[in-house]
Amino acid sequence: MKAVCWQSANEVRVETVPDPKILNPRDAIIKITSTAICGSDLHIYGGYIPTVQKGDIIGHEFMGEVVEVGKGVNNLKPGDRVVVPSTIGCGNCHYCQHDMWSLCDNSNPNSWIEEKLFGNVTSAIYGYSHMLGGYAGAQAEYVRVPFADVGVVKVPPDLPDEMLLFISDAIPTGYMGAEFCDIQPGDTVAVWGCGAVGQFAMISAYMMGAEKVIAIDRFPERLEMAKKYAKAEVINYEEVNAGEALKEMTGGRGPDACIDAVGLEAHGVGLEDFYDQTKQKLRLETDRPHVLREMMVACRKGGTLSIMGVYGGFVDKMPFGAAFNKGLTFRMGQMHGQKYMHLLLKLIMDGKLDPSFVVTHQLPLEEAPHAYQMFQQKQDNCIKVVLKP
Ligand SMILES: [Zn+2]
Ligand SMILES: [Zn+2]
Repeated sequence: MKAVCWQSANEVRVETVPDPKILNPRDAIIKITSTAICGSDLHIYGGYIPTVQKGDIIGHEFMGEVVEVGKGVNNLKPGDRVVVPSTIGCGNCHYCQHDMWSLCDNSNPNSWIEEKLFGNVTSAIYGYSHMLGGYAGAQAEYVRVPFADVGVVKVPPDLPDEMLLFISDAIPTGYMGAEFCDIQPGDTVAVWGCGAVGQFAMISAYMMGAEKVIAIDRFPERLEMAKKYAKAEVINYEEVNAGEALKEMTGGRGPDACIDAVGLEAHGVGLEDFYDQTKQKLRLETDRPHVLREMMVACRKGGTLSIMGVYGGFVDKMPFGAAFNKGLTFRMGQMHGQKYMHLLLKLIMDGKLDPSFVVTHQLPLEEAPHAYQMFQQKQDNCIKVVLKP
């Protein structure tokens, strides 16, 4: 089959690789009909995620058709149209049983690497490094789905892929980010990053009762999308100081909650950005925490920081005194897709949510190298690419 294989920093290739096979009774093989490039795939593309190896198949946001199931999978059959969560959960451990699927104890066979680094193991994620399981990713014609009897969601035949695909990853990530904010009527929620996750976080924040949502980015087309579809007020942080603008827009108090939908490759401005870019290049810090710093200072006293952008290692110069003295609450983590997918599917089927507006490009899988470059460089107003195997 054809698959997108990582080569080295900023290089992927579409290669011919062996088809996946059923290895365990609870496996299913899915023929992929749509797979998206996630913002967090750019961290892999750029070479920022440790333990990604040359030749690894990447990609974790996908849907398709079941072609084969193992003996232990009784709820799916060949021909079923399905969406699969990006985080892999076993369904049986303490964490899966408590709906914390991305913290699954059992899905990551390379747990020893993570245990050394993080103290514990978290769930595996498709195509997201050997540290996070070493599973083949889904930017391919076929993928093996482990624990397919839990988590995989059957979807109706009458809706197009681009309305359903994102319940795999981007929508539950945004939704969980908003849920973390414990939004009360009248709240103002600020969202850093207007990619797909940011857009869905904004829409979710309104669904949960926010009175005002403020979007922060530097790309006019993304801010435009946030205005048009997520009904957000917008700040272009290259034109104005985001911290000061947030104060002005919240009567001097700061937002009640702040959502980071950017992660470890944040761009700052001026000296701070230079400092982070340099330290990251010298491998003196792995992650650029510009958004985290800005949120800690901008958030109102007693507010909540919700971190959905991916971080992988170490950050530097955090204004922790501000966070502590202001009594901020931090919530964060990889999303628990399995907890939210049915609810999100229902919202889509009921016509309350149409996520297809985020798709700016649909390309054949073969064009993945071009797609990655375009998405990374934000060329051609690229916000979300869907690859079609
Ligand atoms: Zn993702
Ligand atoms: Zn589990």
